[in-house]
Amino acid sequence: MKELCLRALDVARGKGAVYADARIVRSRRQDVSTEDERVSGVGDSESAGIGVRVLCDGAWGFAATARLDRAEVERVAAQAVEIARSAALAPAPGGIRWAAEPTHVGVFRTPIKVDPFSVPLEEKIQLLLAINAEVLKVKGVRKCHSGMNFRREWRLLANTDGSLIESETYLTTAGYHATAVDDMTAKTRHFAAYPLSTGYEHVRETPLLAEAARVGEEAVAQLKGAPCPVGRKDLVLHPSHLCLTMHESIGHATELDRVLGMEESLAGSSFATIDQLGTLRYGSPVMNVICDNTMPHGLASRGYDDDGVEAQRWPIIRDGVLVDYQTSREVCGAIGALRSRGSCRADSWASIPIIRQSNLGLAPGKEPLTLDELIADTKDGIYIEGTGSFSIDQKRYNFQFGGDCFWEIKNGRKGAILKDVTYQAITPEFWGSLDAVCDERFWVPYGVTNCGKGDPGQVAQMTHGSAPARFRQINVGGAR
Ligand SMILES: [Zn+2]
Repeated sequence: MKELCLRALDVARGKGAVYADARIVRSRRQDVSTEDERVSGVGDSESAGIGVRVLCDGAWGFAATARLDRAEVERVAAQAVEIARSAALAPAPGGIRWAAEPTHVGVFRTPIKVDPFSVPLEEKIQLLLAINAEVLKVKGVRKCHSGMNFRREWRLLANTDGSLIESETYLTTAGYHATAVDDMTAKTRHFAAYPLSTGYEHVRETPLLAEAARVGEEAVAQLKGAPCPVGRKDLVLHPSHLCLTMHESIGHATELDRVLGMEESLAGSSFATIDQLGTLRYGSPVMNVICDNTMPHGLASRGYDDDGVEAQRWPIIRDGVLVDYQTSREVCGAIGALRSRGSCRADSWASIPIIRQSNLGLAPGKEPLTLDELIADTKDGIYIEGTGSFSIDQKRYNFQFGGDCFWEIKNGRKGAILKDVTYQAITPEFWGSLDAVCDERFWVPYGVTNCGKGDPGQVAQMTHGSAPARFRQINVGGAR
């Protein structure tokens, strides 16, 4: 494999490329799902190939193939150069600045205890069917869907900096949703072993079966829940909910290619423009957002990105102020950075690397604070768990979020379940209303497995962790 990568680089260099990388990826994925008392899907697939990216005459070329033999790899490397020469006929304004990166020779492997692909399918299906049976025992529940998803990706990246990087990462998640139905409507409640780059031990250690009855009961309770009030409420948001709000209103808004207008074709721009770097008040002084691709078991933790940049940890919002972006070697120079932050990844051997969100999370509060104490300190609010529908504009400025389950908070007590809660806000006003974050004991790494970006589209995964947090006086109920 190494010889194939190095041969691709030789061919690209020989034809005039000033930079080239060759990336072989072998991936396997398994998806298992059940519906009520039956198996509804089992998929198991493998994919392997090589992608060659070249910088030539001031333009990019990329070509890929699933045939891993020397003649084919030589053909693809030559084709990538040819594509770059064609692209150079319409050069990028200002040309391409390519930031330097030290040479890396290394191996990164996600530590796992149990390879999910070694666990028999029967064991997985038995657990899913047992969950369904438990959920369906709850009176009022009419459907239960359960599923597990596993991925393993092995990569070998060689580039003309002399780097040679091998990595192996996993994705493991399992979850289910219960649907309760009455004469008028249907309500659904979810539970999951949230996605992590880890092994099957994550499924075994998560109380999937033990929580099944509660999850079913909360689906039923939502049928009878009072509708979302209209007005301003304090919101206490659980990490299982905040992951998506952070992803959409901070994560995408701070991808530097979007900020620079390079992703406009897929709802991609940002209000957080580079002239405001160091001055934009993104949120309140208790808002600290850290990107961390060194995070153990993070979905974006690979040791190195596909630009060959070593994983880093860095603040992007410090005490409420925008202080950095998520960058690649191509765009980091636009903010005067000499080195990329290492946020460039491709979703397969057949895709060109683009800026993808890092593991990005809200730092826990510095003072001891439990979720119970936070609720006890809230007079008139709503507590939200899990994610639901959402909508956000292309500048990541004006948004609305739903959720999975909602409780009224009255005079410091978590009360009855509400239904159909939505909240509406403008990004800096929303984060400006953040006044308390629970401490690190309550910090949980949730993640996103289906982040779409790029044209043609790619799907990426990343982790977004936080502790429960409170936002004061947010507009709720506007969607009714
Ligand atoms: Zn996304």
